Amino acid sequence: MISGSLNPVRVVVLGGGTAGWMAAAGLAKLLPGLCTVDLVESEDIGIVGVGEATLPHIRAYVERLGIDEAEFMRATHATYKLGIDFRDFGRIGESYIHPFGSFGEEVAGIGFHHFWLEMRQHSLAGELGDYSLAVAAARANRFQPPAAEPSLASTYGYAYQFDATLFGPFMRDFGIRHGVTRYEGIVTRVERDAGSGDVTTLVLKDGRRIEGDLFIDCSGFRSLLLGQEMDEPWEDWTHWLPCDRAAAMPCTHETGDIRPYTIATAMPAGWRWQIPLQHRMGNGYVFSSAHLSEDEACETIRNAAEGDPLADPRILRFRPGRRSRSWSGNVIGVGLSSGFLEPLESTSIYLAQMAITYLIELFPSGGGIDPRDRDEFNRLVDMEYDRVRDFLILHYHATTRDDSEFWNHVRTMQVPDSLADKLQLWRKAGRVEKYSDGLFYDASWIAVYVGQGMLPERHDPRTALADPERVAGALDRLKSTIAEEVTAMPAHLDYLRRERTRLAEPA
Ligand code: FAD
Repeated sequence: MISGSLNPVRVVVLGGGTAGWMAAAGLAKLLPGLCTVDLVESEDIGIVGVGEATLPHIRAYVERLGIDEAEFMRATHATYKLGIDFRDFGRIGESYIHPFGSFGEEVAGIGFHHFWLEMRQHSLAGELGDYSLAVAAARANRFQPPAAEPSLASTYGYAYQFDATLFGPFMRDFGIRHGVTRYEGIVTRVERDAGSGDVTTLVLKDGRRIEGDLFIDCSGFRSLLLGQEMDEPWEDWTHWLPCDRAAAMPCTHETGDIRPYTIATAMPAGWRWQIPLQHRMGNGYVFSSAHLSEDEACETIRNAAEGDPLADPRILRFRPGRRSRSWSGNVIGVGLSSGFLEPLESTSIYLAQMAITYLIELFPSGGGIDPRDRDEFNRLVDMEYDRVRDFLILHYHATTRDDSEFWNHVRTMQVPDSLADKLQLWRKAGRVEKYSDGLFYDASWIAVYVGQGMLPERHDPRTALADPERVAGALDRLKSTIAEEVTAMPAHLDYLRRERTRLAEPA
């Protein structure tokens, strides 16, 4: 039990996957003196071993911990990611990039997309993606980090695509250097305080006992502490997100180039990912087991992979949804133990990162866990999950596909009220719900709405007051300036090589 203000809180992390080591390293580095961190992991159980594509927010985590980006990228064989290329989602044969960046600029408080919609009516606008530097750079396989000073070159962000089996060990070395104590072994018993119900001790198979004040459950889909021990109910979202399996198979690169983006291709019973790393390509088919068998999915991924297979397809089973509360008693679920919403927008590592960030902000020091802090943590985590859930459902629902039972189901299903409201706002007047925090701002929603062929009935009427020729001229200039910027960027592969060389050179 957490008591006096002077003693550091004894944190015990159960699990050494991506979530476990991110949590342990983050707490040890960012709360020195306020906590001690023990971590238990089991090589016999292993990690889920997928989770290669990230969101730009991970850079803040890397930076905050003082990790050298180039060193991190070399160690995890990472590539840069400017967005996701969605193929065949709205309609077979059509594609769009959801970029980590904006489309054009607001003018006089009117969003760029309103001008674009107006110009489209006059047949004076190109594709929406023509006005995004991130989209144009991705399409050209080019990359360089955005400019720090406000300019066109600062209108995008980037994330990483890394080898999930190398990321954990990298964070483990970092965590141990910052004071994390690691235990190897299987937790077979959990002891709890008879009065409060709080977890007090993890008991390993060989009898070792690890006592703590605060327990971070990073045991993956097992959810040993939050799910099994605290019995925190599971909210199942399969009716909105029917994919519950993945067949994953790495292969070699099919060409000499490395794309600075992930590809997500819609399939008859789900969708397929291609994630380029430095040394290989990650491939997988995320599918609904109600619509496709595991054998059929493995066969599909074998046939679809463009390079030579580096392993047999591996099936991963999951249930989309989350635990009702991520923090219960003195147990906090981080990562898959607290929920999973399938990898369509690479959000799972982000959700783990945010849980760690919120925990650090609300960390119980000086007098035990304040239930208000716990409630606030749960409110914030819920908000993050709900946002991600709605955004993912949009990719399935905003479609005209009627070529399979799966697409007929997702196209016609009833969506959550929160998403129905957002759709209404967009359909009627091209408006996007505003948030001040959390994931997926205007540009992301607009990318998917427009990319999947969902255009609004109206847009901001003030755009009609502007001279169409002048607006069209501004759009043309933006498009050509973007093209010039992209031409000046190095190829993604050259940039990666340059960074590797820089790292190898003595300082
Ligand atoms: P795990 O990696 O499963 O780690 C669990 C840990 O707990 C292990 O160390 C294990 O040994 C330990 N453990 C469990 N039980 C015990 C015990 N009894 N005793 C001791 N130790 C124990 N996320 C993204 O952000 N981007 C993606 O592109 C992405 N793609 C994905 C694709 C698929 C198909 C799936 C299923 C997930 C994907 N994810 C993705 C999610 C991502 O893989 C996870 O969020 C991330 O790897 C974190 O996993 P974890 O650490 O919670 O669990």
